[in-house]
Amino acid sequence: MNSRFVPDEWKIIENRFEPENSRDSESIFSIGNGMMGQRANFEEKYSGDTLQGSYVAGVYYPDKTVVGWWKNGYPEYFAKVPNAMSWIGIDVEIDGEQIDLATCKIKSFTRVLNMKEGLLERAFTVVLPSGRVAEVTAKRFVSMHEPEKAAVKYSVKISGGNGRIRITSFINADVKNEDANYGEKFWEGTTVKTDGKKAAVKSQTRKTGFVVASAQTNVFCLNGKDVTEGNTNISARSEYVAAIFTNQYTSGDTFEVTKYVAVLSSLNHTPASMETKAMIKAYEGECEGFEAMFEKHKDAWAERWEQGDIAIKGDVAAQQGIRFNIFQLYQTYTGEDPRLNIGPKGFTGEKYGGSTYWDTEAFAFTFYLNTADSHVARNLLLYRYKQLDKAIENAGKLGFKDGAALFPMVTMNGEECHNEWEITFEEIHRNGAIAYAIFNYVRNTGNREYLGDYGLDVLVGISRFWSQRATWSGDKKKYVILGVTGPNEYENNVNNNWYTNTIARWTLRYTIESLEWLRGVNNPKYNAVVSRLSLDLEKEIPRWKDIIAKIHLPEDTSLGIFLQQDGYMDKEQILVSDLDPSERPLNQHWSWDRILRSVFIKQADVLQGIYFFEDDYSDETLRRNFDFYEARCVHESSLSPSIHSILAAKLKDNDRAYKLYLRTARLDLDDYNKEVKDGLHITSMAGTWLAIVQGFGGMRIRNDKVSLNPTLPEAWKSFSFIMRFRNKPLKIEVTEKDVIITNFSDSGISIELYGETETIEPGKTCKLKRK
Ligand code: BGC
Repeated sequence: MNSRFVPDEWKIIENRFEPENSRDSESIFSIGNGMMGQRANFEEKYSGDTLQGSYVAGVYYPDKTVVGWWKNGYPEYFAKVPNAMSWIGIDVEIDGEQIDLATCKIKSFTRVLNMKEGLLERAFTVVLPSGRVAEVTAKRFVSMHEPEKAAVKYSVKISGGNGRIRITSFINADVKNEDANYGEKFWEGTTVKTDGKKAAVKSQTRKTGFVVASAQTNVFCLNGKDVTEGNTNISARSEYVAAIFTNQYTSGDTFEVTKYVAVLSSLNHTPASMETKAMIKAYEGECEGFEAMFEKHKDAWAERWEQGDIAIKGDVAAQQGIRFNIFQLYQTYTGEDPRLNIGPKGFTGEKYGGSTYWDTEAFAFTFYLNTADSHVARNLLLYRYKQLDKAIENAGKLGFKDGAALFPMVTMNGEECHNEWEITFEEIHRNGAIAYAIFNYVRNTGNREYLGDYGLDVLVGISRFWSQRATWSGDKKKYVILGVTGPNEYENNVNNNWYTNTIARWTLRYTIESLEWLRGVNNPKYNAVVSRLSLDLEKEIPRWKDIIAKIHLPEDTSLGIFLQQDGYMDKEQILVSDLDPSERPLNQHWSWDRILRSVFIKQADVLQGIYFFEDDYSDETLRRNFDFYEARCVHESSLSPSIHSILAAKLKDNDRAYKLYLRTARLDLDDYNKEVKDGLHITSMAGTWLAIVQGFGGMRIRNDKVSLNPTLPEAWKSFSFIMRFRNKPLKIEVTEKDVIITNFSDSGISIELYGETETIEPGKTCKLKRK
């Protein structure tokens, strides 16, 4: 596929303005810093097609649920991250004519996302109807160093005559969401405030009462000289504040505005004095200056890249793809605040409501666990821990009791907000991924203490849910879990989804093991856990053990495969290769009914289970299941190909691993799913990382050690990744002949390479042969 973007290792570069792709580029060039983020909307007026998007982490609006047929148990609302006030605005009027890329003649246009430095830049030249030529450059960043601050530098050089310029730098809180169930505005009670050059707007979300304040202060220069004073008026009206600069120009003059911004939210501040605080922060930015602020921001990015960069030699497109994914993940979630999480679209669009899905634990978690200090992954765990009471309430609403917890399919604050019965009530496998993340964290960090402090509370809640959700089948003489939707959302209300039953069994086992471990190492703490959770050791544990021993796991013994669910083989067994390519993706061409009845699966399901618990299955079992399900999987969830890619690499099927990898690596950059206009697939970007590190790198944590089984895709000369194990940073470089491992920590580490133990001294690099 031809990319719209110039190949570059560190930058996304667009050399032409294509109005028909404007929304796509707004998504691709998004910037953020975990606390806030925004689509790459233009600073100046744009009268063409656009999705305006500026988002503040943790702030949500409960949009009242719309369904055709109400079912008991549905949540009342869907939490949406509202498009918040826009602080980027800089309108430019030359002799009464506005710079507007939809109406001016465009002579040149470049947009660059510098991923190394977290900087969004544009440069363009336009001819206005009057014939005046304006050369514009714009730079902006949202600070990774101080997440409440941001800055824009915008310059205009005018030629072709003399006249009058007016630059209006503004914050506009008159904003809405395209996706609003009742067309309502999500914000209310907006107030404005000014103080000298500084100005602020404060708004509150309706119903939830989150308060956000944005403030700005501006410096206007003419040919490098500050001319703000005497030429600038501050204007404030309802939901809008502006600094309006007017001046005479002569041909060749350059005007520049530097806009310093602060965005504060009531998650971190009391609403009362928020505008004033925001103005002070914006002014701090001005005192520091754009360059100095930018230096610190750049350093913060350099630190991130030192922790998680992946370098690929010999394939620029692949290099650009993976860095784009890592960049987007880091700017969506920084892990400092356990109230925040990773929405499938991050700060890049409205779809999915910006809430938390199982994507976090099943995909994104491993990325942060390996590429950031361990407190980041711990905060992701604590997010769920803090929502345990709500998960118990949620299960209670569905009829479960005695501390059984069902974490929501989609949430902001712990309450379920998804409202399709087949997902809300049936896609219960999500509970398993939340338990698995605890195991994943303990396995990587070695911090088992977490189990006694917090982990067991969540594990026991989830185990109680599985225990009550599983019922005894007198017919099968097995425990069954009926009426579920597996990860494959292309079939609902199935009985005994293999993945769900497998992860349920595993959770029960892991919970018992963790309790036993705690009893062994710290009896008083174990007793405290038992009493805190009112665990009935006589009744609950024996039932869990019975379920572990007797849960039904459907399989086809003649084919030697696990069956996705009971009755899967009754389906007409046609393959993806039999499909007419013009009918793909199926969800855009087939009726839902036809999809539900078909054999085709949306995403890794049985294979997702084999991926999580691979040590329980032989390579032969994996191969048979892989061949069977890959032939039936249409990968219509972006989460899917990465898991198949990792398993193909494990099977040493490098060609297939690489082909599947390609489907994830540039999914958004090259818009494979034709939906990038709605925002980026942030959570599945973690899958791309997994496909390189666990797939081609063959990295696993096994027996308290890092184990590597690297292979090199033919198209690449080499690749390297950085990861942490027990908080020790390691770099692994895989070349045609060697595997080069550097231990950056100050203590030695033993790792396994192709099954052999190698010890790497602190601060040392070890060069070993690649197989
Ligand atoms: C997938 C889910 C996923 C959701 C959000 C859906 O298309 O089927 O597994 O949680 O997208 O990414």
